Amino acid sequence: MSEKLNVTALFGANVFSDKVMEERLPKKVYKELRKTIDEGKDLDYMTAEVVAEAMKDWAVEKGATHYTHWFQPLTGFTAEKHDSFITAPDSKGSVLMEFSGKELIKGEPDASSFPSGGLRATFEARGYTAWDCTSPAFVREDDTGAILCVPTAFCSYTGEALDQKTPLLRSMEAVQTQALRLIRLFGNTTSKKVTPSVGVEQEYFIVDREKYLKRKDLIFTGRTLFGAMPPKGQELDDHYFGVIRQRIGSFMKDVNKELWKLGVSAKTQHNEVAPAQHELAPIYAQCNVAADHNQIIMETLKRVAENHGLQCLLHEKPFAGVNGSGKHNNWSLTTDDGINLLEPGKTPHENIQFLMVLTCMMRAVDRHADLLRESAADVGNDHRLGANEAPPAIISIFLGEQLEDVLSQLISTGMATHSLKRETLHTGVKTLPDFAKDTSDRNRTSPFAFTGNKFEFRMVGSRDSVAECNVVLNTIVAEAFSDACDILEKADDFDLAVHDLIKLYANEHQRIVFNGNGYSEEWVEEAARRGLPNITSMVDAIPALLNDSSVDLFGKFGVFTRAELESRAEIQYESYSKALNIEARAMIDIASKHIIPAVMRFARNLAGTANEIRQAGADASVPLGYLEQTTKLLAQTKETLEKLETVTDRAAMMESGREQAVYYHSEVFTAMEALRRPVDQLEMIVDKEEWPMPSYGDLLFEV
Ligand code: ADP
Ligand code: MG
Repeated sequence: MSEKLNVTALFGANVFSDKVMEERLPKKVYKELRKTIDEGKDLDYMTAEVVAEAMKDWAVEKGATHYTHWFQPLTGFTAEKHDSFITAPDSKGSVLMEFSGKELIKGEPDASSFPSGGLRATFEARGYTAWDCTSPAFVREDDTGAILCVPTAFCSYTGEALDQKTPLLRSMEAVQTQALRLIRLFGNTTSKKVTPSVGVEQEYFIVDREKYLKRKDLIFTGRTLFGAMPPKGQELDDHYFGVIRQRIGSFMKDVNKELWKLGVSAKTQHNEVAPAQHELAPIYAQCNVAADHNQIIMETLKRVAENHGLQCLLHEKPFAGVNGSGKHNNWSLTTDDGINLLEPGKTPHENIQFLMVLTCMMRAVDRHADLLRESAADVGNDHRLGANEAPPAIISIFLGEQLEDVLSQLISTGMATHSLKRETLHTGVKTLPDFAKDTSDRNRTSPFAFTGNKFEFRMVGSRDSVAECNVVLNTIVAEAFSDACDILEKADDFDLAVHDLIKLYANEHQRIVFNGNGYSEEWVEEAARRGLPNITSMVDAIPALLNDSSVDLFGKFGVFTRAELESRAEIQYESYSKALNIEARAMIDIASKHIIPAVMRFARNLAGTANEIRQAGADASVPLGYLEQTTKLLAQTKETLEKLETVTDRAAMMESGREQAVYYHSEVFTAMEALRRPVDQLEMIVDKEEWPMPSYGDLLFEV
């Protein structure tokens, strides 16, 4: 038997949580800090000093020797710079462990090597990290030791956001302000805060590490650049929700243990659709905390996998032809006194506030569908969106039968008079309980689905930060609420005005609602008729950041300045080009140094075999047939390889920016696919012993 876990004792053991703060801080200091956390009051210097001291003592007791400001620059990863707590040795050569208030609040990493999209000229390399006291500090332990991690935001000397967290915090403020305005109009005078709640479901692949290390493409790019489909794919559907194998189970147990210690409420785990694919979901939390936790989850999956001789693949499409990985971003708005603004209740047609919120969300998503799509744009995600496995690249909202019905009553008569009842599910077995069915069934093909009391945005890539989509969601909803409040606050008859506005929004934005099969060809045509954007690639998604409507939106709510948006667009183009350049170079390297030589060895063997057979006076047509097929594919490989070399060299010489990214997308990517075709065919012919890397079958079925 494996060790027993005491989960309640373990949970949050490495978190400088509210409970720890209350225990360890003087009452007055604790109260001051709470004011900062809850009300955004400025933190005074003395309070910071005391908090830092207590935090350090606590961390040192946990074995921490260093601290780091932990932040999320626009590289797609988290960043950290470790400093030990030691002071300069005194005259006797002894050191103390110290951590000052200043060190807690502000850091100054040498920021010149993080992407800034031109915001921070290299001569002004200064960037600052600033403590986000609303996301708790934690001690992370691994084989190299323990370290105090302080979640921080990262900005330039002049205050421009250089990271994921800064705009996220800004957008949370925006939606809070507007949501409070709205609920006040509906008579709520007691709630003080409204925060977006977010729960992120994370998909990932697990493969054997030794095999992984034999795949240069996985090592360099996170995905396989070559690989023929195994004889068995996912057609049997025997993996989804299947029994979790021992080796994976023991890995998951350790993942949970590590996450629980860090206060991440890992809740659900199961096998996913593809072989070797799994999912993990924590219980939802405040938006910025959920985004931090998702980073912790990704890091923990990778770290723990290695300890188990496994490798976690977070790429959106590690294997062509096999289901890819994404994240589902579950989003709702919750008040500090526990009201969920997206809770329809049993009779949504009577819940006027809910209908106002709902139609505002329709308006928000319809007006800014392109931005939402952009928030999920990622190099790896280009392989998924619209490819009949993930949601389509067209944004639409799924409401489910009950809400769809309420909406159509509103649209046709201007009045919603009834709600469809929840049906009872009869199992037909006496000993099994009957239960009420959910009113929204689960349309898995919708990118933005209402699932009971939350919206689920399903487009995000598995590797991507969820900060981006939540920045967009928070801000577009803030705008819709603000527009509604502008009208309602002026109304003489509030009830009448609300009623009219709900009807207006429902009518104006009904085109964004779609309850059918999002994977079908008919939907693509129907969406085009409705005028909904269908943006099929990252390079085509990026320009949405700089649309007038986007610049106005983000400017109005203080989330991004135009300069910040320009920098983000530039970084996106650059990261697209860089990723494609690495993929293309890796392909060239693998094809010329590994595959072509192996195929030539195989061809020589075939030729030798054919000769010997012929000399023995027998029929050599079979080996000769294979030889001919092999050399033909070899010639195609060489030809497509040369083409790829030419376009990659050209692309690399171009100036970085949109034009370069578009060229990578149209020329380099196409040339990569062309090279892959003959190579994958060769893999099916060449002797397995000769093939220079583990196959899809080896990777997917032998974990
Ligand atoms: P699924 O069946 O899609 O896996 P779950 O109900 O298990 O859905 O929830 C998935 C995620 O949504 C979890 O992280 C869960 O905590 C989160 N979630 C549940 N309710 C809410 C809510 N009101 N707001 C935001 N996230 C939520
Ligand atoms: Mg879900």
